[in-house]
Amino acid sequence: MKKKKPLYEGKAKVIFDGPEAHTLVQYFKDDATAFNAQKKDVITGKGILNNYISEHIMLAARELGIPNHFISRVNDREQLVRKLEIIPVEVVVRNVAAGSICPRLGIEEGTMLNNTLVEFCLKNDSLGDPIIAPEHIFTFGWATPDELEIIVEDTLRINDFLTGLFLGIGVRLIDFKLEFGRYWTDGAVEIMLADEISPDNCRLWDAKTNEKMDKDRFRRDLGGLLEAYKEIARRLGVKIPQVN
Ligand code: ADP
Ligand code: UDP
Repeated sequence: MKKKKPLYEGKAKVIFDGPEAHTLVQYFKDDATAFNAQKKDVITGKGILNNYISEHIMLAARELGIPNHFISRVNDREQLVRKLEIIPVEVVVRNVAAGSICPRLGIEEGTMLNNTLVEFCLKNDSLGDPIIAPEHIFTFGWATPDELEIIVEDTLRINDFLTGLFLGIGVRLIDFKLEFGRYWTDGAVEIMLADEISPDNCRLWDAKTNEKMDKDRFRRDLGGLLEAYKEIARRLGVKIPQVN
């Protein structure tokens, strides 16, 4: 595909215009960031693994009728997606306590939650992605109540589907983050899942050992991030070209 000027460079991906109207290309970088990009590194091959793993999950989600932006994988690093108007809200789903909720609410990591918890954060790096309530989303017009209803419904379906998918390969889905957007065509609008689903934005623990198989390996300097992502891909049956 002919290279165009980047429209946007984020922490983990670069976004280019796609070949047709209403399309974009997502390029998966090897950059790893944590703690609002205060910690940074490059992990060669991470972008390729996330591209393939996210493709696998988005295709499976589409099979279940969960609308998402994925169209096709272009090469090892790029995928063609529908261009959405991103809703600036990060939807965080928690099945087990880990990460930021532990110090925030004084809960021990690994505590099973009585029910699935859906949290919302404003997608704004300069404010540190603060946690917000649905009322903030409506008050500031980031999404309407009808849109949020669809988002939460899709999110809970995605959680059920991902929990089963990962349990089937001996992995516990602890938590994850989703982004949604509006797909405008001919005056009609549809809410779709955007961005990526990969070990960069999910916490995944081995079901037998509770070993971390996600970006916490980088956040906490545990080492072995690439090996963990490769193991997730291998268990999912995702064929990855030689990485490293
Ligand atoms: P960040 O912006 O948080 O640093 P990334 O490096 O992953 O994150 O950049 C990808 C960007 O592309 C994100 O800001 C995300 O909201 C946006 N994005 C993802 N999917 C789409 C899409 N289908 N249409 C438009 N923007 C998208
Ligand atoms: N997450 C993410 N991007 C963010 C914030 C969180 O992908 O900007 C994911 C993170 O990988 C984890 C879940 O959302 O799977 C919950 O993250 P948490 O709020 O605990 O934040 P963190 O530990 O990243 O500070």
